[in-house]
Amino acid sequence: MSNTNIDYRDLANQIKQWAIELGFAAVGISDIDLTEHEGPFLKWLENGYHGSMNYMAAHGLKRARPAELVPGTLRVISVRMDYLPPDASFAKALASSSTAYVSRYALGRDYHKVMRNRLKQLGEKIKLQVDTLGYRPFVDSAPVMERQLAEKAGLGWRGKNSLVLSREAGSWFFLGELFVDIPLPVDEANKSNHCGKCTACLTLCPTGAIIEPYVVDARRCISYLTIELDGAIPVEFREKIGNRIYGCDDCQLVCPWNRYGQITKEADFLPRDSIKDKPLTELFMWDESTFLKHTEGSAIRRIGHERWLRNLSVGLGNAPYNEAIIDVLNTRLESASEMLKEHLLWALEKQRSKGNEQKRKTARLIRIIEKGLPRDA
Ligand code: SF4
Repeated sequence: MSNTNIDYRDLANQIKQWAIELGFAAVGISDIDLTEHEGPFLKWLENGYHGSMNYMAAHGLKRARPAELVPGTLRVISVRMDYLPPDASFAKALASSSTAYVSRYALGRDYHKVMRNRLKQLGEKIKLQVDTLGYRPFVDSAPVMERQLAEKAGLGWRGKNSLVLSREAGSWFFLGELFVDIPLPVDEANKSNHCGKCTACLTLCPTGAIIEPYVVDARRCISYLTIELDGAIPVEFREKIGNRIYGCDDCQLVCPWNRYGQITKEADFLPRDSIKDKPLTELFMWDESTFLKHTEGSAIRRIGHERWLRNLSVGLGNAPYNEAIIDVLNTRLESASEMLKEHLLWALEKQRSKGNEQKRKTARLIRIIEKGLPRDA
């Protein structure tokens, strides 16, 4: 259809209908003016809160200027896809410190692939109506201010933990964007923030990464430390990481709005049995080919086998004392890189000192018994 004959209001309604049919839980359209977010973003970079994520700085303000990223862009269609699995078993997995905790978003198939594919389908449907359409799908893979765009598109507000929250769905969802070069009518931006006086995410973040409302210092964030960071995990955070071997969900778990979290409808996001709530020792024993086999099509694969072992070493050091843990840690010492070796030695030291403490307690108990128990014991 020629662009002059298009009723963009009708088309926008149609797009929303298609998006829902494609499995998105919510959809909204915004313009591309993100000027108000440029200052805070530059300040965040200036403070070094992006850590070693150099790509955050490399693209500069392109992140806040969609038309510089994709010339001709006029609107962004933001979508939400829920990922919470039906049996998330948060408490069970976090309470058992010999079990590996993987952030719930990463238990199933890689969301980048699932969502990009659906967004492409949405783009193609629009193109059938507007044959001159230019579009580009993005899912957390390019310099795009997806949370700010989602807020502008009316999908929710940015919580103090910096995630987008929805009154209907909490924050257990992914966001994706379709950049388009047609003048669709925009939706009303979200103007209300429903965090109120709550500060649960700030006070309960294990590493104090939310340094002030809406500002996360990635260098302290367990998601960054276990996924993005390519190198040694700073010692000061290792104990706080506990058994979280890939990402962290704590700032969402404590959020009262997540009582409205929606269970995913996507079979692709259902947890893989080989990854969910497995003993740390079992995952640690995977060789590289087993790691690649079990993480095929999963977001976890991106961190590679060495970082996987690094994270598991930290988890094993934090686990309760167990001779079997010392044995498995020792099996990797000889072939480990310098970086991994340092984590293995840290974990061995933690295990041994817990073991020694346990032995001291037992010896004390035996001495008491040998001295003789009171007559009425
Ligand atoms: S935990 Fe409280 S402050 Fe943090 S995002 Fe949720 S409602 Fe907002």
